[in-house]
Amino acid sequence: MKLRRFIRKAQSPTWLYSLVIAPSLSCALATLPAQAQPDYQLHATPISAAPAAPAIAGALGQISDTHIRQTIETLVSYGNRNTLSSMDADLPAGTGVTAAADWIFTQFEEISRQCGGCLEVKRDTFTNPVADRIPKPTTITNVYAILHGTDPVAAKRMYLVTGHYDSRNSDTMNTHDAAPGANDDASGVAVSLECARVLSKLKFPASLVFVAVAGEEQGLNGSAHLAHLAKEESWQLEGVLNNDIVGGNTTPGDTLQRKDVVRVFSEGIPATATPEQERRIRALGTVDDAPSRQLARAMADAARSYFPAGVFAPFLVSRPDRYLRGGDHTSFNREGFTAVRITEWREDFNHQHQNIRMENGVQFGDLLRFVDFSYVANVARLNAATLATLASSPGIPAEFKLVTTKLDNATTMTWKAPEGAAGGLHYEVLWRETTAPDWQYVQTVPASEGSVTLTMPISKDNVVFGVRAVDSAGHRGLAATP
Ligand SMILES: [Zn+2]
Repeated sequence: MKLRRFIRKAQSPTWLYSLVIAPSLSCALATLPAQAQPDYQLHATPISAAPAAPAIAGALGQISDTHIRQTIETLVSYGNRNTLSSMDADLPAGTGVTAAADWIFTQFEEISRQCGGCLEVKRDTFTNPVADRIPKPTTITNVYAILHGTDPVAAKRMYLVTGHYDSRNSDTMNTHDAAPGANDDASGVAVSLECARVLSKLKFPASLVFVAVAGEEQGLNGSAHLAHLAKEESWQLEGVLNNDIVGGNTTPGDTLQRKDVVRVFSEGIPATATPEQERRIRALGTVDDAPSRQLARAMADAARSYFPAGVFAPFLVSRPDRYLRGGDHTSFNREGFTAVRITEWREDFNHQHQNIRMENGVQFGDLLRFVDFSYVANVARLNAATLATLASSPGIPAEFKLVTTKLDNATTMTWKAPEGAAGGLHYEVLWRETTAPDWQYVQTVPASEGSVTLTMPISKDNVVFGVRAVDSAGHRGLAATP
């Protein structure tokens, strides 16, 4: 090789890699033992999507961009839905938070009329005392509708979807200037109403609750009251989906927005964990397995059944919420309930909590024109698929335990049937590597009377185990972890 050609070739990184680095690397690899292949991977069945249930798929098909647009447009038309406006006597007719609450109530009533009175439509109205962002005692109203389950025992289980109908502009105390709140959070309320509209045409063994709360922008006051009410009234609330800012922001020039995903935030250590429970979570390395995180995984599971791959899916975030922000799911977490937050991929902070104005050619304000109604419709489908699947499922296996009485490279586990579970169910034992974000492998276990004891040739030291109950039609319940 001529010297000049050699130098030119030597300057090419690819060539340099093939000549110098690759042979030394392959020598190094040859002398290392092969990466051990865990036996659970060799023999296990990877988890696949459950088949879509025709009734649920039919309901998702009825979710309408147009209907969602009408809901958000109507909520925006109330001008300013600041929670404090409930105490104003000088508001023009048809504006303010109370007018919005009344309209949401009539929507639930209309939906109920169309299903032969299937919904119990209620208001949770209370006076919030003076607080940080509440300068005088203020009336706050949450509006909700219950689709009672058809099975007397399973009906005690409830799955809830919520959004907040209050809004704000730059000043959280301002009740008179425009605060359209199209994305934050008329979009979430539209999800709740749309789920009520399409799911009320179906029947489920367990109960569904469709909610619109107020007071979010003043300090989560409405959701805190409702979550407390749920606790006091012993609601068996097994999952809360909080949709807040799910409009899919269409700001011109935003090239980083994604329309194929929505974020789902969940807590890893329950807000109500006692010091002793926290000690056990640390000791066992189960920081990624709170019930709220199982709910997030159930949403991902539902998405795999009802959306073609690559079209739309939740992006699971192992964090209770975004930096510097809060949301209504936290009120439910604080009462010990399983709850997650659902939010668009990339928020535009010029369009949240802002007075409507132009500054240096930039439009500020949470305006209707920045909402992508077909994106909100997909968020509604994801919520509805999750709610319908869980309300059809047999519930959560009880008293799931790993036996740890002696040192053992196998794993023995025991559990009991979910309370009041109907016949025909079976179980799926799930496991994943400790660093994997979602369940990876499954073994089907037939149902048996009373409790189940199972021994598997997999070391509990190396994986995380869960178990879920599945009904005869394939509806998967939430996973229990030990
Ligand atoms: Zn919000």
